Amino acid sequence: MRFHVITLFPDSIRSYREASIISKAESKGLISILLSNPRDFSTHSHNKADDRPYGGGPGMVMYALPILKAIHHSLSGNGLKRVLRKLSSLFSTTKDLHTKYVLFSPQGKKFTNILAQEWASSYKDIVLICGRYEGVDDRVREALNAEEISIGDYVLTGGELPALVVIDAVTRQIPGVLGNEESKESERTASPRMFTRPESFVWNGNTYSVPEVLIEGNHAKIEEWRKNQQLEIKK
Ligand code: SAM
Repeated sequence: MRFHVITLFPDSIRSYREASIISKAESKGLISILLSNPRDFSTHSHNKADDRPYGGGPGMVMYALPILKAIHHSLSGNGLKRVLRKLSSLFSTTKDLHTKYVLFSPQGKKFTNILAQEWASSYKDIVLICGRYEGVDDRVREALNAEEISIGDYVLTGGELPALVVIDAVTRQIPGVLGNEESKESERTASPRMFTRPESFVWNGNTYSVPEVLIEGNHAKIEEWRKNQQLEIKK
């Protein structure tokens, strides 16, 4: 699985990328993250990447062509990779079916774990287009048939956090990424309330103890307790 992140701020992706599961998945060769900056493909002076919106209005809009060129470059790879991909595309008639184009937008379809599972099993390349300012020239969506995706009902400064959210959630669904114990998380009742050592401590004059049921070791009762906690938290 290759994630192609199209961003004006590639440095904002780098530090989280080095965090545990994502970097482990990269070093195991299960995923790769390719960062591409539309500014590098701008033909305007000073590598300008945005301009005023047609029809007027506040803010700036990211140019379409530098984004499309950045995506093309990232998907084709360079050097030996480019040659290998060209060779493999000769034998593939369904190349485009393996590429998902995502355009981040606060108005888009809500990203969920179900989408993360679907994408992990359906695509070899996921292109994540990170908007900035007022957003991206709509012809990018049109040219790529990109799906607009939101990570929640709030407006962020850019698509970089959404891109990291998607990379993290999709990567967790790729077989071999999580250890055995972690990968069973969807099969058990995940509790919103968790405890570890010590069994009890005092803070500001109050004693805080682990619920008895978790210490007694009766697994049926523990499951029931966890389900009740989930219901409680949803109220
Ligand atoms: N005025 C724009 C609008 O309402 O769509 C807001 C643009 S926002 C400041 C800049 C970029 O951040 C967006 O183009 C999008 O790529 C990204 N973004 C902001 N909030 C997002 C969200 N909740 N989910 C996904 N992407 C988001």
